[in-house]
Amino acid sequence: MNFGRKLKKVKLEVLNPHGFCAGVKSALDKARRLIKSGERVYCLHEIVHNELVVAELKSQGFIFVEDINEIPDGSKVLFSAHGVSPDIRATAEAKNLKIEDATCPFVARVHKAAADFHKRGLLVIVVGKSSHAEVKGIIGEAPGAQVISSIEDIERLKLLFDKGLKVGVVSQTTMNADDVAEIVSALSRYFIVESVAEVCNATKDRQDAVKAFKGDALLVLGSVTSSNTRRLCEVASSKTFRAGNIDEVKAIDFSNINHLGVTSGASTPEEFFESTLELLLKI
Ligand code: SF4
Repeated sequence: MNFGRKLKKVKLEVLNPHGFCAGVKSALDKARRLIKSGERVYCLHEIVHNELVVAELKSQGFIFVEDINEIPDGSKVLFSAHGVSPDIRATAEAKNLKIEDATCPFVARVHKAAADFHKRGLLVIVVGKSSHAEVKGIIGEAPGAQVISSIEDIERLKLLFDKGLKVGVVSQTTMNADDVAEIVSALSRYFIVESVAEVCNATKDRQDAVKAFKGDALLVLGSVTSSNTRRLCEVASSKTFRAGNIDEVKAIDFSNINHLGVTSGASTPEEFFESTLELLLKI
């Protein structure tokens, strides 16, 4: 991919890295191998948070469910890149499901850290969004774990727990890296903190590329449900647009923009990125 192509009036700059991370690539490779096997496969939750990827897999016969009890006993199930809680694994085993696991190794590392903190008797604090599939899986490792997503949330913890309590802090892998560092620092002023809270390298590298961008506006390609895509929009210092499909790109008004950056979330297919560039070249 070329950088800084001058196009009519708009300078178009592709930010790197962008697009699929290693965890997403590996999960999709696994899914495609399963499709080739011809067996009916259920996937618990979206395999990655991208509408185009999910639509493609659905069209090839993948069945997405939100509740493990929807899956017939004995079937093949793929756990998504976001990971699942020990309870879900136990239910899958009780239902005699044939498990294929696409949990990203970085997410698995956070699970292990949360479980280790819990075993040692520390209160586990997860920096993340409580509604996100990854966080639901992590808190399953540490009953009683508290989820916070902002410095303001620490006030709630202060009402519940004594100053000086020992806590173990982990983070959802796709948070805003600066926010995570600030939250851990603020927690340290009240609790005795042991922290392994940090975003994964793929998230950090994509956020750093966005922070370094100095143009007028940034187009971030990725679904609204994608946490890492939304964080890319947040960390940009320029005006930002987000689009999850080509129709959404077409609906954006790029007038009065002289220098447009383009990037994409870690679950956004490169084919969509390429077709967006082709479209932008015609502006
Ligand atoms: S964003 Fe990070 S944690 Fe999530 S799948 Fe990619 S590499 Fe793994």
